[in-house]
Amino acid sequence: MPNSENIYNRCLKCGFCVNVCPVYKELKEEIVSPRSKLRLVKSFKEGNIVKDKYIRKIIANCLMCETCFKNCPSGLHASQVILDLREEFKEKYGLDWKKKILSFILNNNKIRSLSATWARIIYNSFVNKINFNISIGALSVKYIPKINPALKSIKRSSTNVKRVLYYVGCLDRFLFSNTAKSTIKILNKLGYSVEVSDKERCCGMPIIISGDIKTVLPNIRDNVDLLTNSYYDYIVTTCPTCAVALKEKYPEILNEYDEDYFKKINSVKDKIIDINKFLSTQKELLRLLKRCNKRVTYHDPCHLVNTLGIYNEPREIILKIPGIRYVEMKDASSCCGSGGFYHIYFPEISKKIGERKLRNISKTGANVVLTSCPACKLQLINFIDNAKMRKEVLHVVELLAECI
Ligand code: SF4
Ligand code: SF4
Repeated sequence: MPNSENIYNRCLKCGFCVNVCPVYKELKEEIVSPRSKLRLVKSFKEGNIVKDKYIRKIIANCLMCETCFKNCPSGLHASQVILDLREEFKEKYGLDWKKKILSFILNNNKIRSLSATWARIIYNSFVNKINFNISIGALSVKYIPKINPALKSIKRSSTNVKRVLYYVGCLDRFLFSNTAKSTIKILNKLGYSVEVSDKERCCGMPIIISGDIKTVLPNIRDNVDLLTNSYYDYIVTTCPTCAVALKEKYPEILNEYDEDYFKKINSVKDKIIDINKFLSTQKELLRLLKRCNKRVTYHDPCHLVNTLGIYNEPREIILKIPGIRYVEMKDASSCCGSGGFYHIYFPEISKKIGERKLRNISKTGANVVLTSCPACKLQLINFIDNAKMRKEVLHVVELLAECI
C-alpha cells in the first residue's frame, strides 16, 4: 500500500482540496477538510498530543469519495492516510457492533444470500406497506424500492464467442437485479457470452474502508480465484466500488499480504472494466439502439469519476440513444452523500449533501436521473421520493436495455 508518511509529508497545504470536499462544504469547519485531516494524522503519528477519541471521530467523518485526490495538484490520496489510520484503530479497538454484524454477513456467502432472501420476503410483505417512517441512517425504509428476486448464476453459453465474466456485486445481485438483467441483455445482444458465478463473493469494500482488511482476505482470495481460474476476455462490473476493489484495492492489499495472489490479480487486472467504459468501445451499440424521447440527467458516482477517472464514457453512451434529451446538472460529479456506512454514522450531513444534489437535479427538469452505481441509486431514490419529486432513477444500463 502507498506509504502514508509520503502522503502527509508531501502536502503543500495549498487548500485545493478544501472547498471541494463534500463534508467541508456542508460543515465549513477546517478540521474536517482533507488538508486538516492530513495535518492531524501527521501530528498524531509524530507523537504529539492528539487524543485517540478525538482523531477517530475526525477520520470517521470522511466519505472516501476521493474528490480531494482528484483536485490535489500533487495527486495525494488523503483517503489512503485516513484508511491506514482506520486500520490501526481497528487493530486497537475492533469494529463496533453494526460493522461487526455487516462484516459477518458480507464475509459469509451462504449467510449473505440467506439474509438477502429474508430481507426481501419481510420487506416486500410488511415493511414497504407501513405508513410510518423507519430510518436506516439517512435512508427512509419506506422509500426503498420493492426488492426483486436475486439474480441467479449463469453459465457460459458457448466457447466460440467472446467471454465476459460479469462480477455483479451485492447490491445489483440482491436489490437491483434489473440492473444486472439489463447488463446481461445488452452484452448478449452485442454477441458476448456472459457468465455470472455463484462463487462470487462480496468485494469487501465496506469492510476494507472501515479498516478491517485481514477479515476480508479469504473473500479477496476467493474472488481472485474466480477471476483467474477460467479465461475471460473481459471482467465487467456495474458497481464502481466493486471495480475499485478488484482493480485497485486488491493489488494494494495482496502486495502486502500474499505474493502469489498479488501475481494472480495482476495477471487479470487490465481485463476488469466498468460497463460504461466497456460499452463506449462497442461500435455495434449504436445500431442496436431505438428511439427514446426521455429528458435525462446523469449523476457521477465518486468511485467511477474520481478513482477510475470515467467521466466522458457514460455521457457518450447516453447520447448515442436516438431522441434522448440530455441535460447536464450542476456539480454532477459531487458526492450524493451515501459513502458506504457514512450515511449511517452521519445521517444529518449525508442528508444535507443529498439535498444539495437534489436541488441540482431539480433544476435540470429531467424526468429520468441516471447514474452508474447501485449505492448512489439507492440514495437518490430515497431523497427523490422523500421530496415527492416524480422522477425515475435508473442505472445507465437500464435505460439502454429499455431502448434495445
Ligand atoms: S490539495 Fe493536496 S497538497 Fe493541497 S492541501 Fe490538499 S492534500 Fe495538500
Ligand atoms: S475522501 Fe471525500 S469526504 Fe474524505 S476528505 Fe477527501 S473529499 Fe473529503
